[in-house]
Amino acid sequence: MVSLMSRRTFLLGLLGTSLGACAGPVIRTPGEEIEKFPLVDAHSHYGAVRDPMGEDLIEAMSAAGIKRMVLFEASDRGAKELARRFPGRFAPSYQGPMGIDRRREQMKYGMDAQIAEQVGAEYEKALRSGLYKGLGEIPTYHGARPVAIAPHSPLVLRLLELADQYRVPINIHCTASEGGAGRIDQALRSHPQTVVVWAHAGSYLSPASIRDFLRDHPNLYFDLSTLHPPWPVRGRTHLAYSGVIDESWRQLLESYPDRFLVGFDFGPGASGAIRSTPLSLAREVGEFFRTVLTQLTPPTARKFAYENAEKLYKFQ
Ligand SMILES: [Zn+2]
Repeated sequence: MVSLMSRRTFLLGLLGTSLGACAGPVIRTPGEEIEKFPLVDAHSHYGAVRDPMGEDLIEAMSAAGIKRMVLFEASDRGAKELARRFPGRFAPSYQGPMGIDRRREQMKYGMDAQIAEQVGAEYEKALRSGLYKGLGEIPTYHGARPVAIAPHSPLVLRLLELADQYRVPINIHCTASEGGAGRIDQALRSHPQTVVVWAHAGSYLSPASIRDFLRDHPNLYFDLSTLHPPWPVRGRTHLAYSGVIDESWRQLLESYPDRFLVGFDFGPGASGAIRSTPLSLAREVGEFFRTVLTQLTPPTARKFAYENAEKLYKFQ
């Protein structure tokens, strides 16, 4: 009897899931409303190779339907100039020497107090200019960076201190595996006042672990750049599959609507080389995020799409 009942239940269960899987997206916010959203990209790069890179970004933004962008630059390349030319559209963010591999080689893995002071002084000079609205993307543990600099190292802790002192967010790239999660947890605990944006949903934390981090650290936010095609799903999750939002992500976004930011990671290609962004890709990723947004409740969709980033980066 038990086995028969269970076979019927099993078959019904199977039927349910396949129906569920091939069921279309549940629209919770009309597409027409989403189309009007002033989307904010909280994670893109001003490149070093192509100039005018600014024009490429402007084109990519209109192709993707992005109104405003947080723009990382490793050195004074042009992000501030773009912000001056297009008021209210760009928040320059100082990635600084930690974004330059040749400089990272001289940083003794960020563990030397004197170097932490010297390099910290460069970041403070940038923040004192008042033209930078954030720090980052600060690569700590990063698969494409030859030199690893720990997120709890004296150097990175100095940057967290400065970000708090100048009341700006700091965006950090830290691969969670191989101890990354434990060390960024330490850094967050030591600077509970600093607004930290962990890039790429923590590269690659599971939604369940993200929920724990959000519960434990009210000063932590996540940008969800690269959780979409064409980035491979190897090790990471995507926010949606075949146009249907991933259920664990939907629940997480609805549980913590104030803590997530949209991100496109324009500038660096999949190989990490800085180059311009194909417009077809910009359009595709823009569509991907809008599809996800229609499957969120209106207040959560607004917060994820633009309100959270506007607040953190003080867009006027
Ligand atoms: Zn990036």
